[in-house]
Amino acid sequence: MVSDHAGRAVPQSLGRLGVAESDWGRHIAWDIGIHGVGVALQALLGADLVEQVYSRLVIDSNRAPGHPTSIPAISDHTPIGGNANLSAACRARRESEILHPYHDQIAALLAARTRPTALIALHSFTPRMNGVERPWHVGILHHRDTRSAGIMLDLLRGEGDLCVGDNEPYVLTATSDYTVPYHAERGGLPYLEIEIRQDLIENEAGQNSWAQRLARLLPLYWNAISTAK
Ligand SMILES: [Zn+2]
Repeated sequence: MVSDHAGRAVPQSLGRLGVAESDWGRHIAWDIGIHGVGVALQALLGADLVEQVYSRLVIDSNRAPGHPTSIPAISDHTPIGGNANLSAACRARRESEILHPYHDQIAALLAARTRPTALIALHSFTPRMNGVERPWHVGILHHRDTRSAGIMLDLLRGEGDLCVGDNEPYVLTATSDYTVPYHAERGGLPYLEIEIRQDLIENEAGQNSWAQRLARLLPLYWNAISTAK
């Protein structure tokens, strides 16, 4: 399991990036609640978990190096002063110190695995974006590997109490995302990119409840994907 936006740390040398303290609690800084879900799920499943501890405002670990929104100067209408007019050297430093070590750790873990593996990417999304309410409780994002996503979508719909997004609230593409295309799609590894709505996992009870749900469904998913080729 990987979690690109689990943390909101900032290297001391960057200060607070010109961002108000109140904005550091918002979804622009990190995927609210997903760290608690990931840690609980790791304990329940015994799966590996790699989390990015640095904020997506420092560098977005789900963007290719050099991507226009890799180091955002504006995020959801909030200017990120510390990212404006950044020099090439500053960008390169964030890539080498924050982006690459995270992806190197995932690559090394995948390379060392001797058992069949699926990559599970954990994210959370804000319930409101640009004034529009998002109805989905959970979404599965996919691109080339629709079979893997389809199995999990069916399992989630079968729960009966969920509004399930199929490539909602985002569509996975080879350029908008980085972690799944780079680590999974490139090598044909099955994957799930799971998005949970943030208001459902903002406290520990919600995080545990979602971890328990996923710990129940992921083995069923794995069973289906490894037998029904
Ligand atoms: Zn995310």
